[in-house]
Amino acid sequence: MKINKKYALANNEGSSHIASRNFIIAHSTATPNGEAWAVAHNMKSTINSAETYVQFIVDDKSIYQVGEPGYDAWGAGSPANSMSPVQIELCEFDDKKRAIKAYQNYIELIRQMADKYGITKELDTSSKKGVKTHNWVVKNGYSNTNHVDPYQYLPKIGISKSQFAHYVKYGFSKTSKPKEKKKEVKKSVTVDVHPVVKWDVARVFVVTNKKGCNLYSDESLTKPIRTLANSSTWKVITENNGALKLGKDQFVDGRAGFTKSNPIAFNSKLGGRVKIIKKGTHALYEPKANSKKAYSLEYGKIYRFKGRNGRFLFLENSYKGKQVCVTGNNAYIIL
Ligand SMILES: [Zn+2]
Repeated sequence: MKINKKYALANNEGSSHIASRNFIIAHSTATPNGEAWAVAHNMKSTINSAETYVQFIVDDKSIYQVGEPGYDAWGAGSPANSMSPVQIELCEFDDKKRAIKAYQNYIELIRQMADKYGITKELDTSSKKGVKTHNWVVKNGYSNTNHVDPYQYLPKIGISKSQFAHYVKYGFSKTSKPKEKKKEVKKSVTVDVHPVVKWDVARVFVVTNKKGCNLYSDESLTKPIRTLANSSTWKVITENNGALKLGKDQFVDGRAGFTKSNPIAFNSKLGGRVKIIKKGTHALYEPKANSKKAYSLEYGKIYRFKGRNGRFLFLENSYKGKQVCVTGNNAYIIL
């Protein structure tokens, strides 16, 4: 959306201090039905008396700039003003349609400015960086004012704190809510369906839950200990009453991911693919630790093998007419 600079401050007006890039501060005007141009005009015309302004004021139809982005504005008190290159006011409307449209423009501008100044699009977290409401900077000791905006207003138009945080983070897609959610899941699930495991690991569990999955201390899955990260791979020891046991007093709900079995652990005649997981790995002439080295195997590269002797995996390609192998300590099976 185009930014209207009709009421932008002149060079000799407002602060000339370059703000640190900690916050994008989100306000709402607390002036029911006041349009962006009117709020901007008011800020500009009273700059020397009220000494109150922000960079942008957003309504359903327009964005007006008052303060110069990148510099302090005088909207959130001290020291918040000097930590925020952009502060944005949302215009408040009784008309639901106008209110929602303005809110969408507000979200878009917040996200755009956060990206521009390298500020994370996390709302009101405990971090010293991110998108912050005026309410948050007050509550967390970054302001000498006592405002609670925009939370005195957002609930009136049906927006909860968590919804606000969600839209700041993910944006306001034109599509309906459920569709947008689906898209998110798709985007984040880049879990490799071919986990890489040591030859003797019989079975693994790979977390596919976007937010990770709970690790429990009990097999009835009632006492969470910590979270296992999305796409992380874990050795499965056994299954107790439907819970996957990953270690002593460590269980997960199998629905939080997928499990894959490794027949190589049981059947030494089977072949497959291995990935070299250690630098300086060599193909060996004999399946033993002190064997003569044949040639060097590339770290990270994938080789085919055709059966094993203990932990030694026989490579499919022979070398100078001789069969060669690699130790399963340095080459992991691709499931
Ligand atoms: Zn405010």
